[in-house]
Amino acid sequence: MPTLSIVATPIGNLEDITLRAIRVLKEADLVLCEDTRTTGNLLKKYDIKTPTMSYHSHSKLAKVEKVFELFEEGKNIALVSDAGTPAISDPGVLLVAQVREHFGGKVSIVTIPGPSAVIAALSASGLPASDFLFLGFLPHKKGRETLFKELAGSKRTVVFYESPHRILKALESLNKFAPDKRVILGRELTKIHEEFLAGTAGELLEVFAKDPGKVRGEFVVMVAPA
Ligand code: SAM
Repeated sequence: MPTLSIVATPIGNLEDITLRAIRVLKEADLVLCEDTRTTGNLLKKYDIKTPTMSYHSHSKLAKVEKVFELFEEGKNIALVSDAGTPAISDPGVLLVAQVREHFGGKVSIVTIPGPSAVIAALSASGLPASDFLFLGFLPHKKGRETLFKELAGSKRTVVFYESPHRILKALESLNKFAPDKRVILGRELTKIHEEFLAGTAGELLEVFAKDPGKVRGEFVVMVAPA
């Protein structure tokens, strides 16, 4: 049966890949990826020669049709994203849904688990993580303020992704709506400059004011429960 494999890849350190992921990527007929250059670096490191094709959230219907054709020919396809687990705040959700809907049980959809920034960050944060609320990327405008208000009263650890361009804005909002809450930032996880910064949002804003270089990189924001 043709297979769609959802393959998790490293979030920074290229050694964070499972043996199974490497095998599946090697054996697939095609690797669907966001950026062929980014994935190309990973494939090169593990001497994987499988052809790649780009696929992202704005991909046209024609691309989905091409994928459908390949499955009809019996091919096996691996889906990766630039980093971490595909479909988790990343492209892929729609494709998986479309393949499920179109082929029913005729294409096997399997998960090859591995790194995901949300789990990596939480695991080293020390914050309660038996249950938590993951918000992905927060909306830029509509609903943003409401979310911060809700988050301020949350009895669960709240986790979200933020880009370096918006991290200060997020901290300012947290400082406004949840000034006493403990916030932990997981920055550049698994990379050379990995660090965890902890404090109230106000204290973290001071850290960034003193050391603007830290505003660069990738962030997972974790907010302690009320
Ligand atoms: N699907 C990915 C996953 O499973 O982790 C997430 C992709 S999402 C487009 C990218 C966001 O994840 C970044 O903006 C950042 O918030 C977070 N992220 C990814 N890699 C990270 C890292 N090494 N350190 C901290 N955050 C990271």
